[in-house]
Amino acid sequence: DVPVVTLDGPGGAGKGTISSMLAANHRWHLLDSGALYRLTALAAHNHGVDVADEAAVAHIAETLDVCFLTEADTSVKVMLEGQDVSHAIRQEAIGNAASVVASIPAVRDALLQRQRDFAIGPGLIADGRDMGTTVFPAAVLKIFLTASAEERARRRMNQLQLAGISANFGSLLRDIQVRDERDQNRSVSPLKPADDAIVLDTTELSIPDVVARIEALLDE
Ligand code: C5P
Repeated sequence: DVPVVTLDGPGGAGKGTISSMLAANHRWHLLDSGALYRLTALAAHNHGVDVADEAAVAHIAETLDVCFLTEADTSVKVMLEGQDVSHAIRQEAIGNAASVVASIPAVRDALLQRQRDFAIGPGLIADGRDMGTTVFPAAVLKIFLTASAEERARRRMNQLQLAGISANFGSLLRDIQVRDERDQNRSVSPLKPADDAIVLDTTELSIPDVVARIEALLDE
C-alpha cells in the first residue's frame, strides 16, 4: 500500500505550506483537496450555476475537467477546462463559495475517488479537512493542525498580500469564523481530528518547527 500522511485542520493553520514542504522533502505526491472544492465553486460560477442548486453543483463536481501541473520550481499550476486558474481559485469569494459547495453531500461523494486516485507511489501528503477521517482512514500518520482564528487571519492576510491581493483583517477574521462554523457543523465529514490523529497547535510555532515535528513523527 502507498503510504499516506494526512494534514487536516481549519484554513490558515499552515497546512498548504507545510504539505508542500513535506512533499518536496520526500519527493512524494501532494493532494490539495481544498483546490478541488475551490475548482468546483469556480466551475459552477463560470457555468452560471447557482451554488444553492445542489444537483447541478454535484454534476459540475462529477465532470470537473482539472489538471495539476507541477512546475520545475515545484509550484503547482492548476488548470480548469484548459485554463490556468491558479490565481482565480485563491480569491476569498471562491474560498467562501468552496465552503458552501463542500457542505453538499453529493459533491463530497463526487470528489472522493478523485482524491483517492492521488495515492500513487512512493507516497502522498494529503492536505484538507477530512483526509484522516474520511478519504484516507488507513493513513500511516494523521496530523491535525490548529491555530487561533486571529493568528490564521494574520497568516491569510500575509499570504494574500504576497499574492498581490489586497485584504482587510476584520473581514478575513469574520470569513474564517464563518467558514470554521460551516466546516465544523456540516452533516457529512465535519471538520474534526480523526480519533488517531496527532493534534498540533501552531499558533506559537514557526513553519520549520512544525515541519521538523512532523518529520520526527514520520521517522518513529
Ligand atoms: O483549504 P481551502 O481553503 O483551499 O479549502 C476551501 C474550502 O473547501 C474549505 O473552507 C472547506 O469548506 C472545503 N474543504 C473541505 N474538505 C477538504 C478540503 C476543503 O470541505 N478536504
